[in-house]
Amino acid sequence: MTKLTDLTITEAVHKLNAKDISAVELTDAHIAACEKADKAALNIFITPTYDLARHQAKESDARRAVGQAGALDGIPLAIKDLFCTKGVRTTAASHILNNFVPTYESTVTQKLFGAGGVMLGKVNLDEFAMGSSGVTSAFGPTISPWSGTDPAQAARKLVPGGSSSGSAAAIAARIAMGATGTDTGGSIRQPASFSGIVGIRPTYGRCSRWGVIAYASSLDQAGSMARTVGDTALMLRTMAGFDPKDATSVDVPVPDYLAALGGSVKGMKIGIPHEYRIDGINPETNALWDKGAAILREAGAEIVPINLPHTKYALPVYYIIAPAEASSNLARYDGVRFGLRVEGENLNDMYAATRFAGFGKEVRRRIMIGTYVLSAGYYDAYYRKAQRVRRLIRHDFLQAFEKCDAILTPPSPGTAFAIGEKQDDPLQMYLEDVFTVTLNLAGLPGICVPVGLAQNGLPMGLQLIGRAFDETTLFKVASALEKGAGFTAKPPFTA
Ligand code: GLN
Repeated sequence: MTKLTDLTITEAVHKLNAKDISAVELTDAHIAACEKADKAALNIFITPTYDLARHQAKESDARRAVGQAGALDGIPLAIKDLFCTKGVRTTAASHILNNFVPTYESTVTQKLFGAGGVMLGKVNLDEFAMGSSGVTSAFGPTISPWSGTDPAQAARKLVPGGSSSGSAAAIAARIAMGATGTDTGGSIRQPASFSGIVGIRPTYGRCSRWGVIAYASSLDQAGSMARTVGDTALMLRTMAGFDPKDATSVDVPVPDYLAALGGSVKGMKIGIPHEYRIDGINPETNALWDKGAAILREAGAEIVPINLPHTKYALPVYYIIAPAEASSNLARYDGVRFGLRVEGENLNDMYAATRFAGFGKEVRRRIMIGTYVLSAGYYDAYYRKAQRVRRLIRHDFLQAFEKCDAILTPPSPGTAFAIGEKQDDPLQMYLEDVFTVTLNLAGLPGICVPVGLAQNGLPMGLQLIGRAFDETTLFKVASALEKGAGFTAKPPFTA
């Protein structure tokens, strides 16, 4: 029999419904797995909640016994520590929120728990979701379970990608069946690619941002991460939907994403953007991209060349807009209302001392860049200009979608890198996001599916970009890609 921790969410739901297994058994197996990962020092959890998980699992079994099980009843999940959870410490992986215990629940986690999801704990991330590696966490970096894939480099500890580093590592290590992530500029898709799992960032407005600690509000969006396309669809169907508490959540019906799975892609047009073939990219990345196109062609889709002419401006535009919004959002951490306070001689001293002690280096860098681009005299040159180019980027996509139904690209330039690498050179780190930030700027959905292994043995995924509110097409194409790729590799560490 398959190990309980190897089951997909879909398989586990079947077994739970058939009474082959109980939610308590499933949760206990995952808690044991979490403890094993903890012994291996993967540093996935910031706050484990095993007692709560056991309690939720018991309640889940009781609900199922009387025929009242929800769509995710009894499924053990990891929650990115950016989602406020009522009564459970929520840190955003920042020292400044070290002792913050929310008095309310985020809408997304509320929906997951309302459908019976079990919370194993709050997992690690880059501080305030600013990063592509997990290393900016005030709680130390998450270690990828893929570390040691190459025996010659067994001592090299790898990043799982970021900022949803704990979420991706938990799923790859088989200690959680699914996880929440957030994606402002790639934080679901890049860690999914590095960790050999699936992650979807839905359309801006599809999931409520209520109770998700804000990084850059016009780009932030919650999404699901799991080991199969079907599992991410199942989770997203629960997480999505209009919420009057978030003015940017959109009041459109959530389709039955599961119905799209396994559907034919015959006759669909898949765009390959010319501008994504950039210099200096790992040749294996391009080879995998070609392989993905071949898989979809074989499945009956037509591959069409497209153009996204303003692609080269996306990264600089993102690194103006995201820090600008961050500098404004993070102004609230002033030592008065929540979290840390460091006393000073007067109010200004107290603000400065609190913020200096509370924020890590990368967060301070973003606040400074953001404050600069918004300041009088520079606003027009940077922020306003960036907003204008953002519109052109969005327009590129609208035009491209007249020629195709979905766009296929790599999610990142290469495979997982070592902890410490790129750390002293922020620009190198920002380049990680060159293929992911474009769709955030345009507000579009994107999914990353594992497609193969690089020569170094590490997983590589491919990204599909869709039209606004058309996650259904993305799930359909992603499931064809998943089927054709047949990715089954497991990391050296699994529970
Ligand atoms: N790596 C990008 C950044 O640092 C994206 C992060 C995210 O999507 N949260 O801003």
